Amino acid sequence: MFDCHIHSTFSTDSEMNPIEACETALKQGLDGIAFTDHLDFDYPDTDDSFNIDYNEYFKTMTPIRDDYKGRLNVLRAIEAGIQPHVIDETLKIVESFPFDYVLASVHVIGGVDPYAQEYYTGKTKLDAYERYLEEIYFMITQFDSFDMVGHFEYIIRYSQYADRTIRYADHSDIFDSILKELIKQGRGFELNTGTYRDPSASFKYDFEVLKRYRELGGELICLGSDAHRINHVGLRFDYFAQIIKDAGFSHTVHFENRKPVWDKL
Ligand SMILES: [Zn+2]
Ligand SMILES: [Zn+2]
Repeated sequence: MFDCHIHSTFSTDSEMNPIEACETALKQGLDGIAFTDHLDFDYPDTDDSFNIDYNEYFKTMTPIRDDYKGRLNVLRAIEAGIQPHVIDETLKIVESFPFDYVLASVHVIGGVDPYAQEYYTGKTKLDAYERYLEEIYFMITQFDSFDMVGHFEYIIRYSQYADRTIRYADHSDIFDSILKELIKQGRGFELNTGTYRDPSASFKYDFEVLKRYRELGGELICLGSDAHRINHVGLRFDYFAQIIKDAGFSHTVHFENRKPVWDKL
């Protein structure tokens, strides 16, 4: 199993040393991890703190990858935070470095990160979630150099609605548009376990999204913990691997040199 979504110290919001992350992954019995450090051009209310010096990143990650060869597959990756006006400069970075894997995510909608509560002000839950999914649809149709889509569930993390679960049934049209477009493009999405770290949380993963993707012919699905600290690496992967299996998938996928590699479940 691969954890395809890990943040090291190269991300402003993580203090996890990459070697500590690798050691933890080995202890967890993982076969590989992807360091998807954050690139978010024009992230609101900060200076350029979600930007990375990718020359430094590769100078650090390549020897780590080489050291762990044969024990742990270390993938050099990026989580590209997309807003409509940053697509061109993001493309430039993505195409200038030899990433194994590009994860495309939406963190900012109309200039606001839902982490800031103002995003939800005056919006019903359905409006707030739908708007997020529309932004993902825009991203996948306009940003042409990614492998998988990050966390459909990001929008529920900071919401305060009584029932925070995001459901396929509530947004079936936009989910279908996203899933069909991804299938047409030969791309997929991650199941981001970071949103579901607490098994006792009142919101649950709605696996109808996974089932629908499978039903439409989708095959590319991966697991990502979104860990920013060592005790989150690979968290609850056995549980979510079973959910993926139950939705009809026989494999998950990870990416090497931007090409999918299949991992049997
Ligand atoms: Zn993210
Ligand atoms: Zn992330």
